Amino acid sequence: MKIKSSEFIISAVGPKQYPVDGLPEIALAGRSNVGKSSLINRLLLRRNLARTSSQPGKTQQLNYYKINDEMYFVDVPGYGYAKVSKSEREAWGRMIENYLRQREELKLVIQLIDLRHPPTALDISMYEWLSHYGIPLCVVGTKADKLSRNQVAKHGRIMRETLGMPKGAPLVLFSSETGEGRDDLWRIIAHAADI
Ligand code: GDP
Repeated sequence: MKIKSSEFIISAVGPKQYPVDGLPEIALAGRSNVGKSSLINRLLLRRNLARTSSQPGKTQQLNYYKINDEMYFVDVPGYGYAKVSKSEREAWGRMIENYLRQREELKLVIQLIDLRHPPTALDISMYEWLSHYGIPLCVVGTKADKLSRNQVAKHGRIMRETLGMPKGAPLVLFSSETGEGRDDLWRIIAHAADI
C-alpha cells in the first residue's frame, strides 16, 4: 500500500460526527498500552500522527484518520482502563457497541493483543463479542520484536487456542519497531476495504 496522504479528521463523540462520505472504515481496538498508536503510525509511516500515550480522559471518542482519500482508520479507545468510573465505562461500551454493530461503513475490526502474554479475560470477551455479531475481524499480536522467533510462533499458537480462533482466521504477528507484519496487515486491510 502506497500512502499518499494520511490526516487526522475528528474525535467523534457520537454518530452525528461520523463522516458522511461513505468511505470504508477500518477500526482498531485493544487494551490501552497494547501498541495501537504505534501500529497506526507504523502502518502510515508517520512518526506521531496517532498519539502514543494513553489518555484516560478520552475514553469515549472515536478518532478518525483519513487515508489516501479512500478509507478511514478509526481508533477505538483502549478498553480496560482502571482509572475511569463505572458509568464512564458503561457509556464507552454503549457508544462503541453501537458503532461496531451498526456502522455500515465498518469493513474490518483489527483487534490488538500483546503477543507477550496470553489474551486476558477482556481480550477474550471482546473477541467473542465481535465474533458473535459476525463483525469481520483480524487479530494482531503486537510487540513481536520483544520475543525470540521460537516464542513468536509459540505465543501465536497460544493466542489462537486461547481465543478459540477458527482455522484460517487471520492472525498477524506485528512489530512497530521492525515493521514485521506490516505488509500482511495492509493486504488484509486493502482486501476488506475493497481498494
Ligand atoms: P497504545 O496505548 O495502545 O496506543 O500504545 P502505544 O502505541 O502508546 O505503546 C505503548 C508502549 O509500548 C510504548 O512505550 C511503545 O513504545 C511500546 N510499543 C508499542 N509497540 C511496540 C512494538 O511493536 N515493539 C516494542 N518493542 N515496543 C512497542
